[in-house]
Amino acid sequence: MQTYEKLLLANKEWAHKKNAEEPEFFDRLLKVQRPDFLWIGCSDSRVPPDVITQTQPGQIFIHRNVANLVIHTDLNVLSVLQYAVEVLKVKHIIVCGHYGCGGVRAAMTRHSFGLINKWLRHIKDIYHLNQAELKAISTDEGRLNRLIELNIIQQVNNLAETSIVQREWQKRDAPQIHGWVYDLSNGIIKPLVEISAGQPLNDDIYQYDNII
Ligand SMILES: [Zn+2]
Repeated sequence: MQTYEKLLLANKEWAHKKNAEEPEFFDRLLKVQRPDFLWIGCSDSRVPPDVITQTQPGQIFIHRNVANLVIHTDLNVLSVLQYAVEVLKVKHIIVCGHYGCGGVRAAMTRHSFGLINKWLRHIKDIYHLNQAELKAISTDEGRLNRLIELNIIQQVNNLAETSIVQREWQKRDAPQIHGWVYDLSNGIIKPLVEISAGQPLNDDIYQYDNII
């Protein structure tokens, strides 16, 4: 049997098992999705959001890319964000990165990787902005893990600086934005940072007065 055929077989088993355990499960999800969470995570196969949080289909709206970036010109992440906050009305947005992230590791080198250089450039900029702190760390692994944390914190700020989030904050006391880091070595998520609805931004140049 081919490896991909095993996926299809496993899917059939899962569907039968789920249906046997909860006969109303698929009917319920067919009608509507009302997730409380938008998860923005890394594409890394070792960090599956629903597995590490023990959540079920319907509970988390998910966007993943290399190194969990929120880029202001990325129509993909912005479209996911807009739909999640304006239509699904999620209560929380979670940016979850992970220690040992290959994307961040690649960004810390001077090696050219082709097209993905343009994506990783955003992480290099975060390194540049925090180089005094990072260069004071004595080990490569320590520097990598701190840049991974700084990257997550930056993406949380990037979210708060969008007109999409600010418009929603004018309407309701949500979404709250969380920055988390997942440890591949023990499976534990550590919260790093949190921004509540309406909280002042680090720099008010990003605050929109007239949100359209
Ligand atoms: Zn990663």
